[in-house]
Amino acid sequence: MTEVTLPQVLDARERRAQIQRELLSYGTVLSFCMNIPGPVKFSPLIERTFELGLCLLQNALKENSISIIKKVEIREVTGPEFICALSCSPQVAKNICVKIEDSTSAGRLFDMDILDSQGNKLEREKERTCLVCGKSGRYCASRRLHSVKELQEAVRKIMVNTFMELDSQTISFLASSALEKEVKTTPKPGLVDLNNTGSHRDMDISTFEKSIESLRSYWADCFKTGVSHRDSECFSLLRERGKEAEKAMLEATGGVNTHKGAIFLLGTLCCACGRLWTAYRMCTDPLTLTGECSNLYRQTSVEDYKAITEKKGPLTRGEEFYLKYNLKGARGELENGFKSVLDTSLPVYEKALNESFSENDSAVFALLSLIALGEDTNMISRGGYDKAMKYASLIGALISSDSYPSMDRVHEADEEFIKENLSPGGCADLLAVTIFLHDLRSFYA
Ligand SMILES: [Zn+2]
Repeated sequence: MTEVTLPQVLDARERRAQIQRELLSYGTVLSFCMNIPGPVKFSPLIERTFELGLCLLQNALKENSISIIKKVEIREVTGPEFICALSCSPQVAKNICVKIEDSTSAGRLFDMDILDSQGNKLEREKERTCLVCGKSGRYCASRRLHSVKELQEAVRKIMVNTFMELDSQTISFLASSALEKEVKTTPKPGLVDLNNTGSHRDMDISTFEKSIESLRSYWADCFKTGVSHRDSECFSLLRERGKEAEKAMLEATGGVNTHKGAIFLLGTLCCACGRLWTAYRMCTDPLTLTGECSNLYRQTSVEDYKAITEKKGPLTRGEEFYLKYNLKGARGELENGFKSVLDTSLPVYEKALNESFSENDSAVFALLSLIALGEDTNMISRGGYDKAMKYASLIGALISSDSYPSMDRVHEADEEFIKENLSPGGCADLLAVTIFLHDLRSFYA
């Protein structure tokens, strides 16, 4: 990280004053820079915080119908700066800036000065507080009560916490939205969609909506678990969170299992996002993220399979399929880092989107590509192995003759699946994972 020299700081100050003087003839001048103690004034984290401030500022100006008449933006080692002339009175601009500075914890790091037509700086009514102890800022600064190191650490903490909170909310939003898009994708063979309840009698779209609502905070928890536990403890903590989420889901749906697979798979993915997170950058690369899921689960998976092999009591369906067909279901997906998503559904989904198919139809094609793989343990559990494979290969034949079959053909497949009481629930979970990975990358692009 580059440290600034005193001459550089003085030059920057002189340049700022020069720009401010030039802009005064256009209107009220706003000068936004960062309040960062110590010799390092520019880093990816400082820049991200500055961009956040700029975003808040631009939104507030827009809300108040104030236009930016002329602006100058600087991104240099001396720190990022935004200086502009505004179409409003100095006092109105000052009120907006103070509100931004005081409304978020990161606002403490924003210096948003306002100059009137004479070039005089407007003072705040309320004094700013000290970064370290929260007392009067001027008092601590004038007596140098805190070391630069202490101040830097306080600033770093403010920035890291700000983005951890913000990014965890984004993760929650994206995961919830992926599940919403998944359930609304229509038509889906055998699954609950907008047309019908598929092969299910105990749930409909509103059951899924309640379930999604009950899980909203879970995704943020998974993310934060990943951020603060980068050790081997992480997965067992995640499992605890998962069990609580399952309980919340069952309570919300009146005992119906809508998202057990998603809690496990998407939850691990949100946790992986946290483990690979740095305050200035969200990792959005599907290969890296899914690889981290596999790392997370690896140790546990060995123990899981050993426990199944050695189990004396009655087996669950999943355990039975593992021993009989070596089918690992959701466990296998984590273990191999969502191979079916990376190799199959995500490329299909993104190719269809690129070729201007709607989100809905692209998701239908992605789902069909997953069903055709013939690995869905829900299908086997409801229809038996042979029937499940037969209908998986029917879907395979449908997409091999035309990778984008008409929705009428898919609707026919839906009716056949319903007649046979088949439901590819595992594929539905993977579709949600597919949509999440795509949307995550688009969001942070
Ligand atoms: Zn202090």
